[in-house]
Amino acid sequence: MKMKLAKSKALYKAAEKLMPGGVNSPVRSFNAVSGSPVFVAKAKGAYIYDEDGNKYTDYMSSWGPLILGHADGDVVKAIKEAAELGTSYGAPCKNEIELAKHVVKAIPSVEMVRMTSSGTEATMSAVRLARAFTGRDYIIKFEGCYHGHADYLLVKAGSGATTFGTPSSPGVPKAFADMTLLATYNDLASVEELFGQYPDKIAAVILEPVAANMGVVTPEEGFLESLRRITLENGSLLIFDEVITGFRMSPGGAQKAYGVIPDITCLGKIIGGGLPVGAFGGRRDIMNMVAPSGPMYQAGTLSGNPLAMAAGLATLRKLDGKANYERLRELTDALVSGITEIIEKLGVKARINSVESMFTIFFTGEEPRDYKSVLKSDTKMYSKFFENLLRAGIMFPPSQFEAVFLSLAHTEKDVDKTLRAIEQSLSAL
Ligand SMILES: *Cc1c(COP(=O)(O)O)cnc(C)c1O
Repeated sequence: MKMKLAKSKALYKAAEKLMPGGVNSPVRSFNAVSGSPVFVAKAKGAYIYDEDGNKYTDYMSSWGPLILGHADGDVVKAIKEAAELGTSYGAPCKNEIELAKHVVKAIPSVEMVRMTSSGTEATMSAVRLARAFTGRDYIIKFEGCYHGHADYLLVKAGSGATTFGTPSSPGVPKAFADMTLLATYNDLASVEELFGQYPDKIAAVILEPVAANMGVVTPEEGFLESLRRITLENGSLLIFDEVITGFRMSPGGAQKAYGVIPDITCLGKIIGGGLPVGAFGGRRDIMNMVAPSGPMYQAGTLSGNPLAMAAGLATLRKLDGKANYERLRELTDALVSGITEIIEKLGVKARINSVESMFTIFFTGEEPRDYKSVLKSDTKMYSKFFENLLRAGIMFPPSQFEAVFLSLAHTEKDVDKTLRAIEQSLSAL
């Protein structure tokens, strides 16, 4: 089937003249796949509609936040009601307390929380806080983990940085990058070695407890527990970047699911219900370092914004309860086991990593368990797979190194249609 994309193509041409790469965030450009992005006119539930009138079943879920699907009725209503009352006050409002209460109740490690306007600000501030609290400068991060685009976190970073071959960005001063020590995901020895080399100098270990920005890579048995132990032994803090996994893996995030409690937790995506929000939180004694309680400076003109708080609250309230997570698991299991069967039947060299309602199909014969093994995936093959799916009206993430996200708006019918499209797409490779 030939798809009409004339309007999207014309819009992309216009956008390229005005914005670098025609976009405001790199992977959106589809440069890693078909090279010309679809311009979205509207979205509802599990579906996206482009400017040419094509309809897609969406598995990007805006990179994770839309766990209820697009334009959920209750979320839209909450935003509308909040907008009528003013869009920003520069002064506190009640819903900041309500969202904070929700977060503190759900996330085991969080006793106090500070809202930001993005995940990038949350991780950046969490690292500053760890440095302030410990009086140390170095941090350990893992190759392939993405923590937003702050200077010292853009070292061997995942997501778009990996997709476009710039995991360590120019423009990051060497002195900053030198403060970031790199370890290998799922490899405790690589962490032990760094603690051996830099005794009493490491402020924190930061990681995605389930890595999702090099594609989904799950922590092997004992990995998170060992990181908890080694940070405690060395007087360093453990930071979980749960910007994706918070309220996605379980209401309590990955820390609840795996039973490993970090010192500081970063949140974002789902807690904003599709509006720009991030947050970092942790133990009371640590959070009391943050201004104006303490000396570590952190601020934001639009932090705790009333629209964002309303959207986040409406999302978390609707998501509350086990049944929703069971439903998401059921849908994802149906899709993942269906794809596994197809892969086996057709003899495609591919592996699926999945956890709760997210997964990645890696086009590789090797088990994807860290950055190096993930990078062995055949990205050309992914690109063809993606394009075939797009033409069949299925929107997968436009890069091998990202996750597929299901939402409560998806149905069994969507899953069946998607499986048929995946079988055709893989057969045609
Ligand atoms: C998306 C993401 C971020 C950055 O959040 P932004 O809101 O895009 O700044 C940080 N960490 C992880 C794990 C993410 O997935």
